[in-house]
Amino acid sequence: MITYLQLETLHILFLIISWMFGAVVGSFCNVCIYRFPRGESIVKPSSHCPKCQNPIAWYDNIPIISWVSLLGKCRYCKESISIQYPLIELLTAVLFVIVYLKFRISIATIVYCLLSAGLVIVVMQDLQTWTIPDEVTLTGILAGVGVSLIGMFFPEQGLRIQNPIDALDGIALGALLICLMDLIVILLMKKPGMGFGDVKLLSMLGAFLGWRGVIGSLMIGSMIGSLVGFFIILYYRYIKKIEEDSEESKKGNEDNFYPVDLVASIFLGISSIYLMVRVFIFIQQNVSSILPGEIVRGFSYLVIAFLLFSLFISVVSIFIWKKQIPMQSKQTEENEEELEITLQAHYIPFGPYLSLGGFIFLLFGPELISKYLQILNIL
Ligand SMILES: [Zn+2]
Repeated sequence: MITYLQLETLHILFLIISWMFGAVVGSFCNVCIYRFPRGESIVKPSSHCPKCQNPIAWYDNIPIISWVSLLGKCRYCKESISIQYPLIELLTAVLFVIVYLKFRISIATIVYCLLSAGLVIVVMQDLQTWTIPDEVTLTGILAGVGVSLIGMFFPEQGLRIQNPIDALDGIALGALLICLMDLIVILLMKKPGMGFGDVKLLSMLGAFLGWRGVIGSLMIGSMIGSLVGFFIILYYRYIKKIEEDSEESKKGNEDNFYPVDLVASIFLGISSIYLMVRVFIFIQQNVSSILPGEIVRGFSYLVIAFLLFSLFISVVSIFIWKKQIPMQSKQTEENEEELEITLQAHYIPFGPYLSLGGFIFLLFGPELISKYLQILNIL
């Protein structure tokens, strides 16, 4: 018999383990955040000071504690070490504790701890370099499908997705939604939209959270994003007084470069075909049992028209991509620098908001959906 006291002790023990495990994984996240954008291996060479190249001993590599005891300076050359390192370790530790408190002792805790560590890497790299690492998102998409299989065989382990079809739905819908938003921005406004890294990011969230998670993360992320964006615009308008159309953004409008990506277009095409098949199967199975046939049929025509439209857009974007190849090869290194500037002026780093939306949905998804349906019922 396990007494209440023993249970409490066990609980506190696991809290401490989550915290320590989080700090260690956070330290590994730091390595990824530094090395992924530079194209370096994350295994070899071992950690070393970027200035004096001295290898960092294990006692100087203890998460959080070492940075504090070294007062944020390299032991050998006294070069200051960014406070970003201990902060990331702290953040990851806190996230791990939150995930443990939500999912307790289960496979879900391990899976979602690693997912949140991946999101930390995505957020930091997107903020610093405006790119989202494929190392995280593509691995995550595959891992998500694997996890859905675990969920199918161990339904009592608290995993959000318990059917591989749900994971595939999420991947396809995630790709489709962001691709469409991206391509519409590019085609209408003739400037780069959100970047195709976000496509893979939302697909990854879809693989872990299903199609409801895709819509949920996108909605929560957009809400937070527009709130933050609103304050940023206010800040620049009234406090820093920078005019909206600066030199850079004018240059951007003349630039004919659309960052359309072949892989993303094909991804979009396949996703729309896949979802069309899914809608057909769904109609066949559920039409008469839940709702009057007329309504379902009308609604499904709308959905299929939308999917056909995305298929059309994917064909258009492959066409644009083909026309772009000669343009891209002409671009020299100078132009690349210019492109970087225009990207800075226009690119909306959506990755952080999307990741935050995904994390919130991971914790409160089912509750949020039932609240939302409740509100709809009242209206
Ligand atoms: Zn050093």
